[in-house]
Amino acid sequence: MSNKIQSNEIIIKGKKLQCPVCDHTYFFTRRSLLNTRGLTFFNLDWANKDASNHICENCGYIYWFFNR
Ligand SMILES: [Zn+2]
Repeated sequence: MSNKIQSNEIIIKGKKLQCPVCDHTYFFTRRSLLNTRGLTFFNLDWANKDASNHICENCGYIYWFFNR
């Protein structure tokens, strides 16, 4: 299995995602499972699902999106 991760342009709600730090528009994407224990602390039971992380290819800034 290859470890190579592809970066892509990300469209959210019809708008292209742009890094607020470096203005780059290519991001690595990964899925994160959100765990109930951590979320209860923040009282975020509504978000007890999975999330998408988009990581700026250029500077490493991470966007988090809950998948609803
Ligand atoms: Zn960036």
